Amino acid sequence: MKKPAHTAQTQFQVKDACLQVGGIPLTRLAQRVGSTPFYAYDRTLLSRRVGQLRAVLPQQMWIHYSIKANPMPALVQHMAGLVDGFDVASAGELKCALDSGMHAQHISFAGPGKTDAELAQAVAAEVLIHLESETELERLDRIAMAIGLTPKVVVRVNPDFELKSSGMKMSGGAKQFGVDAEIVPQFLRRIAAMTMDFHGFQIFCGSQNLQSAAIVEAESKTFQLAIELAQHAPRSVRLLNIGGGFGIPYFPGELPLDLGPVADNLQQWMPTLESALPDAHVAVESGRYLVGEAGIYVAKVIDRKVSRGQIFLVTDGGMHHHLAASGNLGQVIRKNYPVAVGNKMSGGNLEIASVVGPLCTPLDLLADKMELEKAEVGDLIVVFQSGAYGLTASPMDFLSHTQAVEVLV
Ligand SMILES: *Cc1c(COP(=O)(O)O)cnc(C)c1O
Repeated sequence: MKKPAHTAQTQFQVKDACLQVGGIPLTRLAQRVGSTPFYAYDRTLLSRRVGQLRAVLPQQMWIHYSIKANPMPALVQHMAGLVDGFDVASAGELKCALDSGMHAQHISFAGPGKTDAELAQAVAAEVLIHLESETELERLDRIAMAIGLTPKVVVRVNPDFELKSSGMKMSGGAKQFGVDAEIVPQFLRRIAAMTMDFHGFQIFCGSQNLQSAAIVEAESKTFQLAIELAQHAPRSVRLLNIGGGFGIPYFPGELPLDLGPVADNLQQWMPTLESALPDAHVAVESGRYLVGEAGIYVAKVIDRKVSRGQIFLVTDGGMHHHLAASGNLGQVIRKNYPVAVGNKMSGGNLEIASVVGPLCTPLDLLADKMELEKAEVGDLIVVFQSGAYGLTASPMDFLSHTQAVEVLV
């Protein structure tokens, strides 16, 4: 049986056996950055991806970018010109979103555990606040009253269904996210009795899904639930955020998500939604699908050693910058990200090698016994699919190495 392979990383071109980022050879880019390790994000690929998604979705739908996937300010600024809204999950991300120039009415603040200070900042900024619990509703009411502004609120619903075959389940059963669907009618009555500007619902089921049938099923159930809940709302629904869950292929054997059936289903729902929720803008929110494939992590080979017959390439980068590629961000069985020797892309002189980082733990592994071009000290190891949940999702201070630089090319 043929071993499952990684989906080819054809979004980046190769010229004279060297990977190109934004038309710049990787070796030149490394000189320009001035140090390794670094993350590089390709702005053309970001634009192209948003354009591709827009081309298949119903034209009246909004695309929101989830800033937690990659909060690099220059990247967020670039995304501000491409998408219809930002979703933030902390005061830090809220600042990043506002700094980009995105209008407050298109910024949504969701997430469990918003502090009083964060709620106050969100009220003052006049962004949409996604309510996650009854006590949060009470705290917000008190805080908004003290400030003297009417808060704009969205109810995040924890539905009674889940997104099947999802990399990360965020709904169904008991969850820290959102208000259980069955108590939403009562929750809406409480909102109606307060001075609050109700905007709509967020129903987000899960993340990193590559099965279009599962997404279609969850979206249809989401629309049914939203229409049902809208009957209890204090006023018409203006925003219906249906999450996204759109995944990207990371591991051998995974194939890109086929958006065709997802788009068809959304298109079919539009007339029903337009009559049941005539004032509602439907938004998909996505992080990794928009930015994940546009980014690479680059580390330099510092040492090449052979231990009992196994080749190790020791690099200056590792899990402290890229926890996900090491397999320690939610993977149950460790699998390799797509990795290559970026300055030797000819494919002519392959060997089996493991790529490890400089941390003193066997967990610091970027590639485990992978087929790679034969690399020497000074060569540049590239980890693809690294534009989302990279640097800021990693334990950057672990072992006190230097920080990785991030560049938008
Ligand atoms: C994390 C998160 C997202 C983004 O998930 P991706 O897999 O990056 O698309 C969207 N919405 C909510 C509520 C989230 O918590």
